[in-house]
Order: sequence, then C-alpha cells, then structure tokens
Amino acid sequence: MTQLQRIAIAPSQFQQEQILLTKEQQHYLIRVLRLREGDRFIAMDGLGKSWLAQLQQEQAQVLEPLTVESELPVSINLVVALPKGNGFDEVVRTSTELGVACITPVLSDRTLLHPSPQKLERWRRIATEAAEQSERAFVPTILEPVAFSTWLSFVNSHQYICVARGNFPHLKDCLHHKEQANIVIAIGPEGGWTDKEIENAIASGFQPVSLGRRILRAVTAPIVALSLITAAYEV
Ligand code: SAH
Repeated sequence: MTQLQRIAIAPSQFQQEQILLTKEQQHYLIRVLRLREGDRFIAMDGLGKSWLAQLQQEQAQVLEPLTVESELPVSINLVVALPKGNGFDEVVRTSTELGVACITPVLSDRTLLHPSPQKLERWRRIATEAAEQSERAFVPTILEPVAFSTWLSFVNSHQYICVARGNFPHLKDCLHHKEQANIVIAIGPEGGWTDKEIENAIASGFQPVSLGRRILRAVTAPIVALSLITAAYEV
C-alpha cells in the first residue's frame, strides 16, 4: 500500500459507502495527483480511521477500512511560545511528522504577538498536509493561542519545560516512566522564558529539562525534544 496517495476527508463527507469530494479535493486528486476514474487512494478522517477508496468523478467509493499503525504509544502535547514571523508553520509541520498529538500555541511574556484567526486556519491546514504525508492516522489538534500563565493553571499531567540555560537534567534522563500515556512538553520563544515563567511552571508541577549544551533555535528545540521522546517510547 506504499504508493497510494492519501487525503484527509471531513467525517461529514462520508455518505454510506460514498465519499462526496469537494471541488478542491477533486482538483487535487485529478489535476495535481493525476488520478483517473477507477484509481485508488487512501481517505483518512484525521481521527484515527482510514479507508481504501476508488475515484469516481465527483465522488469516491469506499472499498475497505485500513489499519494504520503509525501513531506513537504516547500522546504528546507540545506547548510552544509563538515564534516571530512564520516560524510556527515549521513547528507545526515538523512536529506533526514526528507524531505530536496536540499543539498548544502560547503567548509568553516575551512574545505578545496575537496571531490572526487566519493563522490558526493556516496551521491546521499545514498539520493536515503533514499528517497525510507522514501517513499518520490522526491529524494533530491545534488549539487556540492562549497566554502561558492562563494555560499553566489548567494543566495536570506529567510535564516538562525546556530551559536553554541552567543546570537541569537532560530530557532523555527523565523519560523513564514507561507507563506514562501523556506528556506535555513546553518550548519557549526566541528570547527564552522569563525567570518568573520558569518559576510558575515549576510551581505548577513542571520539571525543567535541558536538551543539551547548545542553544537551539525555537524552531529546532521541538524537533529535538520530540525525537528524544519518540526514541524513548517507540519500540
Ligand atoms: N535566547 C535564549 C534561548 C532561547 S531558545 C537564550 O539565549 O537563553 C528558545 C527555546 O528553545 C528556549 O526557551 C527553550 O525552551 C528551548 N531550548 C533551546 N535550546 C535548549 C537547550 N539546550 N535545552 C533546553 N531547551 C532549549
């Protein structure tokens, strides 16, 4: 099944054994991917289910359900202070490829930039495309941006905050809890977290961790953190 193209379909597009394709999806399948009537592709609902489907003009016939086994055994919520410019696009793309379950954009003391609602839409589209390309069963959830301080008061799972300077244990040495099903990992902005943010995070149950001796860019740090978690949990 390696060569088949896959596209994300909203659950509402499924009508019995048919998939009603949008104009945009028809264009993508026929003009961009050059599929013809009768060709097969994989339709995924982004919520864990995939099907083998066959193209028929404006719709597709569902042939059979598929089992997708590309998800991590642990659910990771990546909390990222919004980087400047379009840096977050890259974070969404790479962390989706690496298996993240949820991305929470946060506004920190050093990034007070409020993104437009169009940005959220754009990030969700990037996550969908990256999930298709990485053959994921799930499209990660991208939450509305929230102030880090507000968000801190709601968390209650096992969590780590990445801090670039200081004498903190390495993340790889903290990932021993094999039974852990949920991990929250927080990455700061270009300017780093403020001391107050780190203190508040520790008071809320966060473990401060290092990702190594070099200072990573805000868009590189999530890649390193997610790779370490993947390596520790995926058998
Ligand atoms: N400008 C800051 C560094 C910010 S790096 C300074 O000079 O101190 C952006 C974010 O990436 C940090 O807030 C942290 O969450 C993460 N990060 C980068 N390098 C890291 C490292 N070596 N260990 C842990 N976190 C790191």
